[in-house]
Amino acid sequence: MDKSAWEKRASELKPESRMYINGSFVDAVSGKTFDDISPRDQRVIAKIAAGDTEDVNRAVKAALTSFESGVWSEMNPRDKKAIMLKWADLIREHQEELALLETLDVGKPISDSMNVDVMGAARTVQWYGEAIDKTYDEIAPAPRNALAMITREPLGVIGAVVPWNYPMIIASWKVAPALAMGNSVVLKPAEQSSLSALLLARLATEAGLPDGVFNVVTGLGPEAGQALARHNDVAKLAFTGSGPTGRKMLQYAAESNMKQVALELGGKSPQVVLDDVKDLDACASSIAWGIYYNAGQTCNAGSRVIVQGNKLKEELYGKLTEFLKTFPVGDCLDPSTYMGPIVSTQQRDRVNSYLDMVGKDGENFIFGGEKATGDSNLIQPTLIGGVKHDSVLSQEEIFGPVLVAIDATDDADALAKANGTSYGLAASVWSGNVARAHNFARKLRAGTVWVNTFDMSDVITPFGGFKGSGSGRDKSLHALDNYSALKTTWVDLN
Ligand code: NAD
Repeated sequence: MDKSAWEKRASELKPESRMYINGSFVDAVSGKTFDDISPRDQRVIAKIAAGDTEDVNRAVKAALTSFESGVWSEMNPRDKKAIMLKWADLIREHQEELALLETLDVGKPISDSMNVDVMGAARTVQWYGEAIDKTYDEIAPAPRNALAMITREPLGVIGAVVPWNYPMIIASWKVAPALAMGNSVVLKPAEQSSLSALLLARLATEAGLPDGVFNVVTGLGPEAGQALARHNDVAKLAFTGSGPTGRKMLQYAAESNMKQVALELGGKSPQVVLDDVKDLDACASSIAWGIYYNAGQTCNAGSRVIVQGNKLKEELYGKLTEFLKTFPVGDCLDPSTYMGPIVSTQQRDRVNSYLDMVGKDGENFIFGGEKATGDSNLIQPTLIGGVKHDSVLSQEEIFGPVLVAIDATDDADALAKANGTSYGLAASVWSGNVARAHNFARKLRAGTVWVNTFDMSDVITPFGGFKGSGSGRDKSLHALDNYSALKTTWVDLN
């Protein structure tokens, strides 16, 4: 489909904007709504049901009732798998519709929504569906007169609160393993990006998921999000978002039923270039994709490039500049666009405020630097040179298409700077020497480390952070641990 075909579909779109509880779309009990504004043109694309405590109570009740009935939690694994696989198929069948919702909601380039977000969510649902009848429990080496079984038990109702930057993918990272373990779920999408979650829920019902097993409560964070996080019948809260909100989640849990909390938080991921890189072209292009993909609104965005020594510096910045000159920034409905608008004017202004800092402490723009204003949320990809390691630009998550360049003298200096933030989500190191790269990688304090690449990922490997980037892991079979508890059953055989 070309841009005009997407535009036509966008103009005809009438998205579902009510929340999804117990297998049906319903308005908020209060009847309240909030505007869903597209960052593409600041148009109100939907009036979303503004859920609050009463709606969360309804959704959690539906989830708990479905869980206790055993309609899903005790279903034959083979049947559960079939439903998850059917759901994955339906997601693929609705690829265009889901992609359009995601792109209009958050400004993601339509090609990325089509190929990365929808397909990624479908693959995640499929992968956990397939895992259902392939994960075994354990028998402990107990004495001969006993049978000691260690089984994974579902926790009950899972509350999932997710951000706007990868709405569908991150929702699938939580919902799919939670369902695979037999739990029921209440999902609270970010207020900027509710639309794809609502369609995902309807498709789950169409696939055969029993009513009440997967519910979506739309609404604002401090209202619907807080009510879910404080609910006494929620056994586990799976959260992805900012550090300050993550801190609140721990507080809400402590002040309510001490529910388990898994946190996936922000990052300030370093891309370290050592002075013996073999392929500087590949390195430059990977560094650029590592930060500018999704307009830098990626938790593990490689937002700091740390260059060791002076040998490669100018050549690397030259290559990055050449790359950026041809990087297609523009309308998110144009399939040839690589980088679309920032999600909201609020977030755009936040990024602008960091651009305002440049030059105050010796920094300079190597590329870009123009702020977005008025109705436009398009910020050019920006590369800032001469940034001091301990400056605000170096330490705070900007969450926009802004890369800061930091100098390092030797490996020890580069490592200290790479590890020298409060975050620890991801990192990369570039070197032509395997031993040097590997020794460096070992010492990086990050949940994911890439060597001579960036952002290679798949549902097969875990994802999550060290330090202020959170705890718990999404993806891979390890994510199943997030949504289950180990139970010991000791049988006396005498
Ligand atoms: P955010 O913390 O503002 O919001 C995330 C979610 O929390 C939203 O659904 C929001 O409605 C909800 N929320 C906000 N305030 C709340 C409150 N008081 N009580 C309950 N819920 C509340 O984050 P954001 O701006 O949506 O997302 C950007 C942040 O998410 C960045 O810091 C980014 O790094 C992080 N992120 C992390 C990962 C990861 O896997 N580590 C992935 C994506 C995004």
